[in-house]
Amino acid sequence: MKDPECIFCKILTGSAPAKILYQDDLVTVFPDRLPRAKVHLLVIPNEHIPSLAEVDETHSELLAHILLVCKRMAEEKGLEQSGYRLVANTGPDSGQIVPHLHFHILGGQRLLPVFFR
Ligand code: AMP
Ligand code: ZN
Repeated sequence: MKDPECIFCKILTGSAPAKILYQDDLVTVFPDRLPRAKVHLLVIPNEHIPSLAEVDETHSELLAHILLVCKRMAEEKGLEQSGYRLVANTGPDSGQIVPHLHFHILGGQRLLPVFFR
């Protein structure tokens, strides 16, 4: 299912631009358009799921796949040794802007500590 109002669904249907770096039946990967690190990719499910809050046991396979794709993309970008961070903002307090589940892959430089209040 796609949400016609959702920018990531628009990318998935080709009605909004993005440089697709990887795509399979379940997930799509493209660069964040406002990169916050030297490497900043987004890994999204092809299905419109607003956030992790809407995920349940029926999504186990999808979630496992997303994590494996994150790992593979990080390796492809040469981040295996230097390290990287995965972020899945969820809901208002996290600052989630796009209500389509996504994992940020951030790396290619030393990142600031995550534990800000
Ligand atoms: P979040 O705060 O976790 O919802 O982050 C959403 C991310 O999507 C932000 O880092 C945005 O820069 C990114 N973003 C929004 N629209 C686009 C787009 N059309 N193409 C690529 N990245 C986008
Ligand atoms: Zn969507």
